[in-house]
Amino acid sequence: MTNQYDYIIIGAGHNGLVAAAYLAKQGKKVLVLERRAIVGGSVVTESFGEGFTVDSVWTGGTLRPDIIKDLKLSQHGWIPSTEKPAFISLLSGSENLVLDSDPVKAAESIKRFSEKDAAKWPEFVAFMNKTAEFLDVAYATIMPRLPKNFSFDEGYGLFEMGLDLRLMGRKDVLNLIRMLPMTAVEFVEEWFESEQLKAAIASVAIHGATLGVMSAGTGYTLLHNWLNRGGLSHVNVGKAGEITQALANAVKSFGGEIRTEAEVKGIQVDTYTCKGVVLANGEEIFADTVISAVDPKQTFLSLVGPMNLPPEFVWKTQSIKMRGSVAKVHLLTDGNHSIPEGTVVLAPSLKYLEKAYDAAKYGEVSEKPYLEVTTMGNVVSVHFQFAPYQLKTGDWRLDGRKVEKLAIDTLTEYFPNLQSLISNSHIITPLDLETTYGLTEGDLNHGQLMLDQFLFMRPIPGWSNHKTPIDGLYLCGSGVHGGGGVSGAAGRNVVRVLK
Ligand SMILES: Cc1cc2nc3c(=O)[nH]c(=O)nc-3n(C[C@H](O)[C@H](O)[C@H](O)COP(=O)(O)OP(=O)(O)OC[C@H]3O[C@@H](n4cnc5c(N)ncnc54)[C@H](O)[C@@H]3O)c2cc1C
Repeated sequence: MTNQYDYIIIGAGHNGLVAAAYLAKQGKKVLVLERRAIVGGSVVTESFGEGFTVDSVWTGGTLRPDIIKDLKLSQHGWIPSTEKPAFISLLSGSENLVLDSDPVKAAESIKRFSEKDAAKWPEFVAFMNKTAEFLDVAYATIMPRLPKNFSFDEGYGLFEMGLDLRLMGRKDVLNLIRMLPMTAVEFVEEWFESEQLKAAIASVAIHGATLGVMSAGTGYTLLHNWLNRGGLSHVNVGKAGEITQALANAVKSFGGEIRTEAEVKGIQVDTYTCKGVVLANGEEIFADTVISAVDPKQTFLSLVGPMNLPPEFVWKTQSIKMRGSVAKVHLLTDGNHSIPEGTVVLAPSLKYLEKAYDAAKYGEVSEKPYLEVTTMGNVVSVHFQFAPYQLKTGDWRLDGRKVEKLAIDTLTEYFPNLQSLISNSHIITPLDLETTYGLTEGDLNHGQLMLDQFLFMRPIPGWSNHKTPIDGLYLCGSGVHGGGGVSGAAGRNVVRVLK
């Protein structure tokens, strides 16, 4: 039968493509189904008008080196940039804080705020790099299904992880365990005295999170983002499309198929056993194994349907915390915007950041937002927090322009000529993230990165090893352990479970 496959993968985001490429490489008959006309999910480069091409959603990052190597991505068009741009904190009334990737240069800038902090900077960078390595080991480990099913087979990975961590250094592991539940504020205050530096670092912890720098667990999100960026600053900015196109090329070169504009309407289930999928146009495609790279809420509540699942599982799925509060504002300028290259943040103080989050707690858009700005030639891209999906009053179908105005007005305070240079703009609201990019509640990571949704609790306790209550149905998107962000870990890990 031509519509029978070994594996069907739902969603051609980077994780779905990574899983598909590994399986196709093993010689399996693989089909990837993507509802949009382009592959990539959140890792896409799109055009919004003449000369207005931009990484529309994701800001930057890279895949894990083993994935790049295993899938021979350099032969398929992806060579990660070796450039490490600076991380720049905008400050009014003084020179900006410029944290160059070279710790010695960064220390020069920090010195203007505190000699003591400048002296500590190299030690801090080394600590973060080392600690992020531990997190990477954890993300490469398949979690056992605690509290149930803690068999030897399932628990072995955790045992190995413990051993690996132990060998990497007991003191450092303890530092990691201590850091994760801390607030970003508590953590940076242990290291530094200068407000400008503390706020710049803490801002990285709240990227994409509906949390404030004073929220517990932002020690973890700081480390997660440090790991995915390889430091403070975003890497590979402007190259989203290249990454996912190379992954798609790899899938095809190994014999896999990708179909775009092929929305899956349902996963076909017969008494807790997966049979295949049905598309929005009614077409049925069969496979004993279906891997969903779509977020867990959509996978279970829409595609499988609550009637096909145990009630307790449905309840737990409904309880997954998805709380998007990011909007993107892209501005086409004539190129004379004078915004420096690198990751430019508006994070002048810890209090400023916490207040920006306060608005989101009450369903309001921050009037004084946390902004992260990157440039791709003439285009200025603004990552805007906080713009909560759940608005107390208002409607995202109408309120996008408000966010755009706030972003431009705020940036104009630092770059006075910006406004006059803009010839086109494109805003992506949290609602657009849901409707266009398929992210439930606009949650970028398919579920908030919080300690109660971490390790064996991601996506829900008892189901953290990519398996589901449906035989033959697996998860591999950012909502499972190894995700979120762009690393490919979740897509790589699922393949190890299938063996
Ligand atoms: C605004 C924003 C900023 C971000 N910034 C960063 C960053 O700086 N660094 C970082 O590491 N990460 C960042 N992220 C997070 C990161 O981009 C995501 O976690 C990651 O891309 C998710 O990848 P994925 O493959 O798991 O899923 P996705 O990229 O979400 O892919 C899922 C795919 O499934 C498709 N799909 C959905 N439903 C169906 C269906 N029914 N049938 C068929 N296909 C379907 C979707 O169209 C999509 O292509 C950001 C995300 C956003 C939204």
